[in-house]
Amino acid sequence: MYFTSTRSPRNVTSAQAIARGLAEDGGLFIPSEFPKISGELIDRMIDMDYKARAREVLALYLTDFSADEIARGVEAAYTGTFDSENPAPIVEVAPGLNVLELWHGPTCAFKDMALQLLPHLLTISARKAAPGRTMVILTATSGDTGKAALDGFADVPGTKIIVFYPQNGVSAMQKLQMVTQQGGNVAVCAIEGNFDDAQNGVKKIFADREMKEYLNAHNMEFSSANSINFGRLVPQIVYYVSAYCDLIRQGKLRKGEAFNVAVPTGNFGNILAAVYAREMGIPIARLICASNRNNILTDFIRTGVYDRNRPFYTTTSPSMDILISSNLERMLSLLYGGDTSAVAGLMEELARNGRYSISDAAREKLQSEFFGGFCDDAGTAATIGEIYRKYHYLCDPHTAVALNVYKQYRRETGDATPCVLASTASPFKFAAAVLPAIQPGELPADEFGMVAKLSEVTGVPVPKPLAGLKDLPVLHKGCVSKEGMKLFIRNFLQ
Ligand SMILES: *Cc1c(COP(=O)(O)O)cnc(C)c1O
Repeated sequence: MYFTSTRSPRNVTSAQAIARGLAEDGGLFIPSEFPKISGELIDRMIDMDYKARAREVLALYLTDFSADEIARGVEAAYTGTFDSENPAPIVEVAPGLNVLELWHGPTCAFKDMALQLLPHLLTISARKAAPGRTMVILTATSGDTGKAALDGFADVPGTKIIVFYPQNGVSAMQKLQMVTQQGGNVAVCAIEGNFDDAQNGVKKIFADREMKEYLNAHNMEFSSANSINFGRLVPQIVYYVSAYCDLIRQGKLRKGEAFNVAVPTGNFGNILAAVYAREMGIPIARLICASNRNNILTDFIRTGVYDRNRPFYTTTSPSMDILISSNLERMLSLLYGGDTSAVAGLMEELARNGRYSISDAAREKLQSEFFGGFCDDAGTAATIGEIYRKYHYLCDPHTAVALNVYKQYRRETGDATPCVLASTASPFKFAAAVLPAIQPGELPADEFGMVAKLSEVTGVPVPKPLAGLKDLPVLHKGCVSKEGMKLFIRNFLQ
């Protein structure tokens, strides 16, 4: 197994791909081929716990890691860090609607599934691919990646981590989680702008010659904790494989029986992991791609035209407020059968004109695999209320977007195939949006008042990591312009 780039042929190991984050040609690392999960392996995995399943899946991609390296990483990532026995439990909310709860980790969002493991994969990768170097993890966040990466990398020897978040683009709780982060190797800074500004700024710094020379001279190297890093994707493939095994074990699915997957989507990382699981042989039928009012992916799936020349909206599901979905590039590579010049051409068009249009053949393939839909903030709130009243299930706004679009899908197609719907955050991270959707009326003035009220009204306990934030001091107060990001990094690294 080796890794290549979406934009030109390469030949690197998984350790090199993970240590670098981004390929030198600006493309994303992809596996040279998809390893297959045989029926015999599924039979064995059905009886395994999550960690054992993770070891099996990781070993198929990380062929330059020893079994012991993988086992130690998995053990550290998923032991005592999640508040449930299974890190990714399934709740059957309604017949055929299986909600895969991915937010039982330390920061209460699905990013923990990968970011509790990534620091281990990355330090092992760095030892193999860049021995003796300090890895500087540079991260742009739409809210949840930042905290999950900080939690994963805080005080990890041989690493430093810098997180940029949009000043007015994250929820109060998300911001509080980041600005209270402790650790000797962490830096957190707001930027004047939205998530795309933060992500573009980070991408520019990755490619900056001066910055590269500075790091080289100080025996440091940039890497990424964003889902452009292949090390983020592999752990995400695991939970789709694991969900399939759990559904079989629970008698809800026969072996080989197809199921749909619905995902609230931003950077296209989570849903891409489901695509990869399918490429490996998991019988996933339709992929339901749910967006909020920033519905660029809905338009793309429906028309084959990706056009970012449109207003950017701030919504109640901030982790999906994105107009440039980085991981779509990996999907394009699949749609174009690995044609690197075709993908490079599309990415060039995107950089130049902010839009591109895919071929008829690629569009037909895309539409046969995906359903795209979106809902606005009003639809999100209505769904949170409806799901709570009807099924007594409390969900966060991102999950509600997926539930809303799943309902649209059922209505439009009549397809009653069992569905695994990814639930991506705890509702208590977004109390200001969730509480009024459950119980209209006057809201408590402050964040923790709302969190307490939400718990009181629903009887659902507040996750410990969120409750504990109340008493922590604010350690990171900085805010810079896009142009100021470079200087902020230089000052921190000195
Ligand atoms: C990151 C995130 C998403 C979007 O996931 P992508 O992999 O970027 O598509 C959805 N919901 C929540 C809560 C998130 O944190």
